[in-house]
Amino acid sequence: MQVIENIKDLSIIIKEFKTEKKTIGFVPTMGFLHDGHISLIKRARLVSDIVVVSIFVNPTQFGPKEDFNAYPRDIKRDTQLCIDAGIDILFMPSVSGMYPEGYLTYINVEKITDMLCGASRPGHFKAVATVVAKLFNIVKPDKAFFGQKDYQQTVIIKRMAADLNMDIDIDVLPTVREPDGLAMSSRNSYLNEEERKAAICLYRSLMKAEEMIKNGEKTTSVIISAMREIIESERLAKIDYINIRDAETLEEIEAIDRKVVIALAVWIGKARLIDNIVI
Ligand code: AMP
Repeated sequence: MQVIENIKDLSIIIKEFKTEKKTIGFVPTMGFLHDGHISLIKRARLVSDIVVVSIFVNPTQFGPKEDFNAYPRDIKRDTQLCIDAGIDILFMPSVSGMYPEGYLTYINVEKITDMLCGASRPGHFKAVATVVAKLFNIVKPDKAFFGQKDYQQTVIIKRMAADLNMDIDIDVLPTVREPDGLAMSSRNSYLNEEERKAAICLYRSLMKAEEMIKNGEKTTSVIISAMREIIESERLAKIDYINIRDAETLEEIEAIDRKVVIALAVWIGKARLIDNIVI
């Protein structure tokens, strides 16, 4: 495995792979890797000649009061996990490499970036779309792998790739969970023992919604109320949003009459956790 920090160095290697007609699979991450990331890497390994993983904690996607400085980092452990997973290139660009002085260009995917997580984190998805587009331009992947855990992100990246004629397959893989159902996340490391127990309320509320729908409930407001009740019964939890949307367009719906995504964001202590299911 090669570890590359310099963008130009990576470009030279990528050019060689392209001449050799090798397919490139790409997994962008912010590091502090867990089994959710590893599942993406394993899929990439299975279907690509060359696997590139990036670790870049992108400062522009964190709000001024958010956790950029506190975001967990462990490059030594991540490097070993990448070696163990058999990847070819670990790309770790610097902030100044990605955003040199004079940087001015951003990607604005309209509408679907303003809702759900975008409503609580203004500018977040503009920064995400921009950094992913930049990484795509540097790595030039045939396929890129994302987790369903960040559902809205996957819808935005697919929209951007289609709208900007990026010739890249976007592969979305299921959310990997802890044995009790909590979605794996680098931010779970913020939770103390009591908060970790409380965090299970996100998954419990999603399972309740799934059960209600299976039993014939169609009205989204009724389902959301039942979810709200589960989360509110947890003293340490504070709801950011609970929403049921069209799974493709993310538009608000009143009845379960198509493929939907049930998504929520909940504060547990210092951690803002998100989760979703598609039904
Ligand atoms: P992050 O490092 O949190 O930016 O995540 C990098 C990629 O891993 C994104 O595509 C995430 O959706 C994905 N990911 C994060 N957590 C999980 C999980 N629990 N299961 C599957 N994919 C995940």
